Amino acid sequence: MTDKTLLTRLVHGGRHNPPDGGTPVNPPLVRMSTVLFDSVAHMQDIRARRGSERLLSYGARGNVTGFALEDLITELEGGYRTRLFPTGLAAITQMFIALLEPGDHLLIADSVYEPVRHFARHFFDKFGIHYDFFAADGHDLEEKILPSTRMIYLECPGSIVYELCDLPKIAAIARPRDILVATDNTWGAGVLYRPLALGADISVSAATKYLGGHADVMMGAATCTEAVWSRLAASCDAMGVAVSPDDSWLVLRGARTLAARLQMHQEHALQVGRWLQGHDAVETVFCPALPDHPGHGLWRRDFSGTNGLLSLSLKDRSQQTAADVVDRLRLFGIGASWGGFESLATLSNMTTIRSVTDWSERPTVIRLHIGLEDPVSLIADLAQALPANARETGTNKD
Ligand SMILES: *Cc1c(COP(=O)(O)O)cnc(C)c1O
Repeated sequence: MTDKTLLTRLVHGGRHNPPDGGTPVNPPLVRMSTVLFDSVAHMQDIRARRGSERLLSYGARGNVTGFALEDLITELEGGYRTRLFPTGLAAITQMFIALLEPGDHLLIADSVYEPVRHFARHFFDKFGIHYDFFAADGHDLEEKILPSTRMIYLECPGSIVYELCDLPKIAAIARPRDILVATDNTWGAGVLYRPLALGADISVSAATKYLGGHADVMMGAATCTEAVWSRLAASCDAMGVAVSPDDSWLVLRGARTLAARLQMHQEHALQVGRWLQGHDAVETVFCPALPDHPGHGLWRRDFSGTNGLLSLSLKDRSQQTAADVVDRLRLFGIGASWGGFESLATLSNMTTIRSVTDWSERPTVIRLHIGLEDPVSLIADLAQALPANARETGTNKD
């Protein structure tokens, strides 16, 4: 630095001093917008190649820390490459916008995360995209395919009550018709379920949930096959979709303990689930790992485990009774999302989040996320919150 004026020092000082020594275990957190080049020719060369190669060219086109997270998710999902998004929902909606054209028809599973339904209802018209819902188990899928159907979008297991569908069978129906199969793999967290290996073209997930794992960061990811990648990447680049290095770093840090956490979530959830099944006030416990779940056979075939999610319906079907149960819980937080280390409870009205299957007879479901707390304490909390004797509530319709 030859110019010693304060303004010039402020701009040029303290920038080029890499330390001597070993290498840190974790990739560095590199915050960046601008990337500097050696020459105009160097800059032009990188910009000419960045559409097809992964190169540092500008913060909106990816950053060092984000690339490391992309690589980890690509490896988990077994895909060609991964694109990161600011939220799980953004991954889903951007994937639709990237891969569907005006006039295309999309088939959506009845069991998808509710905000996808909201997006379809309010925004697909604007893009000229037509859609229909098919049953969560896929039994009516083939008859709902139109000549213009270009994508089947599903979530397996489904949100809230965890319906299963036969993904290899759906992929076999889609492939000869040139229909893309996209899945939401948030439940499977990239380890319990491997949609791309089962025939899907795109696996989208909310890293907000188990990958991040600590209820402190939002992130979405879409992993796809090589055939789909360039369309997804070109659309995201054109729309300015980018994530922060800080958030990527947090997700990467959380992901290191994913397998250990999931194992514990699974053990605790099964222990709580079996206890709930024996409770007088409980009508149904929804969890695909429990043998009486309708999707249990497919779960055994296609999944390598379960997670901390459990839902239940009460014999007393009034929404107020269920709300009172949730309100009485002390160890469970009342709040959206899941996949963090902590236990959560929420209430769902199934009639507003399903349109193919009729849930009007038993609309209210309590969704639990079983965290890493001592399951004995969680069971004690549920025991004090549930009605002591189902017959005493007076509104039991059974
Ligand atoms: C939470 C969730 C999402 C959305 O993730 P966000 O990061 O909250 O936007 C998508 N799909 C499923 C199944 C989810 O549970």
